[in-house]
Amino acid sequence: MNKIRNYINGKFSANSTEYLNVIDPSKGEPINQVVLSNNKDFKSTIESSLKAFHNWSQETPLKRSRVLFKYKNLIEKDIDNLAKLVSSEHGKTLEDSKGSITRGLEVVEFASGIPNLLKGEFSQNVGTNIDSWSIRQPLGICAGITPFNFPAMVPMWMYPISIACGNSFILKPSEKNPSCSARLAELFSEAGLPDGVLNILNGDKDVVNLLLESKDISSISFVGSTPVAKYIYEKAAKEGKRVQALGGAKNHLVVMPDANIDQAVDGIMGAAFGSAGERCMAVSVAVAVGNIADKLVENIHNKAQVLKVAPWTDSSAEMGPVISKEHKIKIENYISSGIEEGAQLLLDGRNFKIQGYENGNFIGPTLFDKVEKNMKIYKEEIFGPVLSVIRAKDYEEALNLVNNHAFGNGTSIYTSDGELSRHFTTNCKIGMVGVNVPIPVPMAFHSFGGWKDSLFGDHAMHGLEGVRFYTKLKTVTSRWPKSIKSGPEFIMPTN
Ligand code: NAD
Repeated sequence: MNKIRNYINGKFSANSTEYLNVIDPSKGEPINQVVLSNNKDFKSTIESSLKAFHNWSQETPLKRSRVLFKYKNLIEKDIDNLAKLVSSEHGKTLEDSKGSITRGLEVVEFASGIPNLLKGEFSQNVGTNIDSWSIRQPLGICAGITPFNFPAMVPMWMYPISIACGNSFILKPSEKNPSCSARLAELFSEAGLPDGVLNILNGDKDVVNLLLESKDISSISFVGSTPVAKYIYEKAAKEGKRVQALGGAKNHLVVMPDANIDQAVDGIMGAAFGSAGERCMAVSVAVAVGNIADKLVENIHNKAQVLKVAPWTDSSAEMGPVISKEHKIKIENYISSGIEEGAQLLLDGRNFKIQGYENGNFIGPTLFDKVEKNMKIYKEEIFGPVLSVIRAKDYEEALNLVNNHAFGNGTSIYTSDGELSRHFTTNCKIGMVGVNVPIPVPMAFHSFGGWKDSLFGDHAMHGLEGVRFYTKLKTVTSRWPKSIKSGPEFIMPTN
């Protein structure tokens, strides 16, 4: 069993002697232990980050970009090992882990273009012989707090861009699967990142509170559940920090009667049950519009029954376990509540057992039909392999469902009507929208973020939004006259 310590100033270390078990979700047994950092660990992290910021912020963007290029190569070489670290502590299939690391890698690639991204604006003669320009400067120490469901990708939405912009960065990974972050930090050092520019501070909510309260930290990036996102946003903003806090989701996929039904079913299957539904862009609600409903439900039902649920070590697995025993119970309670509230349970994933893995956190794919909008399984995020089908009589009713839901992360429409899809993309109140695409996750050079209860703060992650979040704007107005007319001016200049 590995003891996962902090990564501070280019070395693994920990002052605290308190450790938490990291559980293999497939077996329900501890595989590693992670340190719960104390005040001393926190203080040395801050000291190291402050010291590193001084020099790193003064490196040229080109030099910073060269380190990122090397980092990209090292991640590519180590991707099989990184994927194993993710799968063993998260439970998702190996190919899915690799896919998620690749999405993180794309942010490193984007951040490698930092000299271009930091180019400012210049205006000649904003007044007579006066020039003006804007530049973006790093913030200082930035911190990121990340969830269990993407142990590599979500941290990589944050620190590559922050560091490329000249900041130092403290990452507080999920205590449920911290190993991959530790390896990613080590690789960054190998690529030439100076010690202390990226520090990893492990722990739970106590260490998060230290980060939120610290006067030395300039910004907080958070991804996790909505109640915690809201708490982080309010507390960090009160402390005067810049905050982006991404929360939970309930993503609807609308299937119109003119949709290609096979494509819609395949899209729904992957998006609802991939990674055991533990993705913030998972489709947890299929909205069947008009007369397509019966066929759609029948086809999903047929496919879901034969979906292969297995541990990540089985290369034929299509879906793994959920993260913890507690989470499994929570999901099973949601299934019970759906039955009690009158939804039609077509496929029940409870009591799902795999020989040799009886203690694992497995739940089979679960399918509800005839879900109503007042039901708990519709209103709340379940974050498991549970798909609710809700039937809508027409497009307007479907759009209202999407727009009236509290969450606003992602949505998608399957249709062959271009005009209708344009109406949908224009009028839905959601941050990320797909047309005949089930999981519309923006690429690294666009930005990721939802609306409503799915994001608190005003910046999405990565892309240009990331560069803006991790830099502050400065605008200089300058003139170089041979002689200045003497005497002060008391009026606002007009030319
Ligand atoms: P979580 O909110 O429980 O934990 C996220 C992080 O916050 C962890 O590092 C954890 O240690 C810390 N934390 C937990 N409770 C805290 C508290 N009370 N005070 C301070 N810090 C606390 O989330 P999770 O279970 O790890 O992840 C699943 C959630 O994340 C889901 O709701 C999912 O939708 C969401 N998520 C959202 C996005 C997005 O982009 N919107 C992406 C991935 C996951």
